Amino acid sequence: MLPREFELIARHFAPLAGQGSLGLADDAAILAPPAGRDLVLTADATVEGVHFLASDPPDTVARKLLRVNLSDLAAMGATPLGYLLTVSVPRDTMPGWFALFAQGLAQDQEEFGLHLLGGDTTSTPGPKSLTATLIGHVAPGQALRREGARPGDGLWVTGTIGDAALGLQVLQGKREDPTGFLASRYRVPQPRLGLGLHGIASACMDISDGLLQDSMHLCRASNCALTVDFAAIPLSAAARAANDPAAILSGGDDYELLLSVPQANEPAFLAAAANVPVTRIGRFAHGKPDVTLANPPGAPFQANLSGWSHF
Ligand SMILES: [Mg+2]
Repeated sequence: MLPREFELIARHFAPLAGQGSLGLADDAAILAPPAGRDLVLTADATVEGVHFLASDPPDTVARKLLRVNLSDLAAMGATPLGYLLTVSVPRDTMPGWFALFAQGLAQDQEEFGLHLLGGDTTSTPGPKSLTATLIGHVAPGQALRREGARPGDGLWVTGTIGDAALGLQVLQGKREDPTGFLASRYRVPQPRLGLGLHGIASACMDISDGLLQDSMHLCRASNCALTVDFAAIPLSAAARAANDPAAILSGGDDYELLLSVPQANEPAFLAAAANVPVTRIGRFAHGKPDVTLANPPGAPFQANLSGWSHF
């Protein structure tokens, strides 16, 4: 039976609350924005069976919920501040699930420097549904946007691509993963916060729906053509061994950054990203928004720009 809501909040969520939350005891939170900063807001919902598996540990479900939102803040060049949390779970959810879920939240609050401001907890006849609304901040006019790529700019990615899509296949029993690396990349993505790319990157977004589809989003927002070199896409050893072009090009859940960088800014970019692996995988050009794949994988794979879509 679901512990009573007040008891649940006091026990598991109040310890996560920070400045502005009023101890989760009032009707709403009061947030004083940092002086001279713009607020940056983002929300992501995760649903059991759609975004995470019933077998995923509750602490990693919590961490992924924060991290997919933190990745959006990273894509905007923002610094995290706090978040609102809405938890809808079946009545028979065990207290132990809440304890582990809150433990995961606490771990990543500590790691990324944010705290709980408020939210809501309800029961639902459907699967678990967890929504976080993150609040970050940025200097006015310094947010990174998707619209600034120009012909000649390089297309760059952080980290490695395709691991999370392969990790999902592992958790679905479709693939081997002796080290657990791929599954961990699916369950706990790494948001690339704090790179300081204002004035260096001309456009930025995070890769959530697949490399090709998200590249197309940058093309459209910036009104440029783009060539992506399949052979240049950075792969982990596990992804290279898996040899699955569809997972690399159209798999979702990478939560790496996809950036355009003018050639003149490359030294500054490499200096700013000194602690994160970055790889140039393409170049923007004059032309209608379109993605061309250079050095494509052999048949039978067909380049698919649609990637992942819910509808
Ligand atoms: Mg995003």
